Amino acid sequence: MKTAEEKKSTWKELPEGDVLEGASSLQFKTGNWRSIRPVHHPEKCIHCLLCWIACPDSAIKVKDGRFQTIDYDYCKGCGICSHECPKKAIEMVPEKK
Ligand code: SF4
Ligand code: SF4
Repeated sequence: MKTAEEKKSTWKELPEGDVLEGASSLQFKTGNWRSIRPVHHPEKCIHCLLCWIACPDSAIKVKDGRFQTIDYDYCKGCGICSHECPKKAIEMVPEKK
């Protein structure tokens, strides 16, 4: 016969997990993680939106199918947008102090 310690728990005995409210990541502005920042050069931009597709933080803002701005509250400065831009319209520069 198994002791209480040897007996495996069933799912009914597991503690309930936490449930977070939706969109909780909006509360954490991660822009202050940056050491380099993307700077957009509109004169080179053809609005292909590859940067918008590639940005892992949804920090590229688009309106009516056109590049609008970069949300520096959430941009972490990874540089993916700059790497993917076919027109070199996004330049990565050192973050200002
Ligand atoms: S990838 Fe470059 S050219 Fe395309 S929308 Fe973004 S900044 Fe403009
Ligand atoms: S640097 Fe990274 S996080 Fe910032 S806009 Fe470009 S792809 Fe998004």
